[in-house]
Amino acid sequence: MAIDETDRQIATALSRLSLFLRSSGWQAAAAKGLTPTQVEILSHLARRGPMRGAALARALGVSAATLSDSAAALVAKGFAERHADPADGRAMLLQLTPEGGQAMAGMPSVPASLQTALQGLTPGDRAAMLRALVTIIRGLQQAGAIPVQRMCVTCRHFRPNIHSDVARPHHCAFVDAAFGDAKLRVDCGEHEEAEDRERARIWARFHDAA
Ligand code: SF4
Repeated sequence: MAIDETDRQIATALSRLSLFLRSSGWQAAAAKGLTPTQVEILSHLARRGPMRGAALARALGVSAATLSDSAAALVAKGFAERHADPADGRAMLLQLTPEGGQAMAGMPSVPASLQTALQGLTPGDRAAMLRALVTIIRGLQQAGAIPVQRMCVTCRHFRPNIHSDVARPHHCAFVDAAFGDAKLRVDCGEHEEAEDRERARIWARFHDAA
């Protein structure tokens, strides 16, 4: 299949951004004496609370061995701790310690230079960019190329394009509030995966009404 030149340029742009984010992540992590994977683990635990190692490895798209090594290092540094899962005494949960929470509090969630660059976009461009990224991430998720993401477009609480207000056409049934593309979530703590048929219906309504 011939590659469209626009697709090639988009892939090149994403690759440049990915390199920048990775190098920023390395620098911020190194300043705390951590690796980027360790930061990802702490950040996940901070957002989602205690998790089992297997679920954490799946969410981050890393191997069980990588997760286990990084978790052991975090426990040794006092940033995380393990305890028995109340739902199953044979399973262990990894959880953030107060020291881990403090380490994360000092980490920038968005590099300052990227924040400045994004401020140069119009609100409409920012919303369109987020919508386009959600579409790409969903496509990769559908293809099994990346781990499942907790996005609005796969959430059973998402009601796309049900309001006549063009600025806020969507609705989140969890918080019972209308919102627009600029507020779409890519990793939401309240996300609940919709069933297959419901997910397809949500996507069709979100995508086809654009
Ligand atoms: S619960 Fe979160 S993911 Fe689900 S629709 Fe609401 S904001 Fe989106």
